[in-house]
Amino acid sequence: MKATLTVLGSGTSMGVPTIACECAVCHSSDPHDRRTRPSILIGYAGKNVLIDTTPDFREQAIREGIRSLDAVLYTHGHADHILGLDDLRPLTYLRPEKTPLFARPADAEILRRVFRYIFDADYKFGGLAQVELRVIDGPVDLFGVRFEPVKVIHGEAEILGFRFGQAAYLTDLSKIPEESYAKLAGLDILFLDALRHTPHPTHSTVENSLRIVERVKPKRAFFTHICHDLAHEATNATLPPHVRLSYDGMKLEFEI
Ligand SMILES: [Zn+2]
Ligand SMILES: [Zn+2]
Ligand SMILES: [Zn+2]
Repeated sequence: MKATLTVLGSGTSMGVPTIACECAVCHSSDPHDRRTRPSILIGYAGKNVLIDTTPDFREQAIREGIRSLDAVLYTHGHADHILGLDDLRPLTYLRPEKTPLFARPADAEILRRVFRYIFDADYKFGGLAQVELRVIDGPVDLFGVRFEPVKVIHGEAEILGFRFGQAAYLTDLSKIPEESYAKLAGLDILFLDALRHTPHPTHSTVENSLRIVERVKPKRAFFTHICHDLAHEATNATLPPHVRLSYDGMKLEFEI
């Protein structure tokens, strides 16, 4: 079936522009150089599935005109991927049932701790996000589509990416373990972390991600979690034609 992938945010944890930074990219007039924190929305069969709730979720949801939300999948519990959870509130009020949030047990524990007031049954002041945590311990089937967790290495941690139909979204990685490559065969679209050119202990570089693209051979690849070292146009000019920097608001159609 046809699906639409919308890039809600393509930026690294601090976002671009970065607070108090005087660099050229942070002061660029190209809207592609404005990057909110990393997240995507996948729409199919009238359903919307969100990957991660960034601190910019409210702005992203308003910009994209999101009218409904049916499930959230979490890649990991870092602040730039979870802190917008509270802004799910208005979307959760539109549903008769609680909105499911899928996370690995350790990440569910982080969500439960950080957002204790939501998950604490004693909170009496109303207006809470109507959500419930569900544990990821294998593929997650949502509305007829299988979301296959793909383990990736993020510095010293192992976190999740997801494959769904002909697309995969792997944010926050420094390395892909051997066993995960088998889950990435035959992709039309591959999203990959590419922070910058300079090596980083927990993120991939443009050069490293190009090597991954060469091995995985998706039809098209898009880089995300991008920092202010990479100007959109100038960087794209150096990439092969089937590899592009993603940008906030980018929309792709694919088979799910
Ligand atoms: Zn991140
Ligand atoms: Zn900057
Ligand atoms: Zn992270």
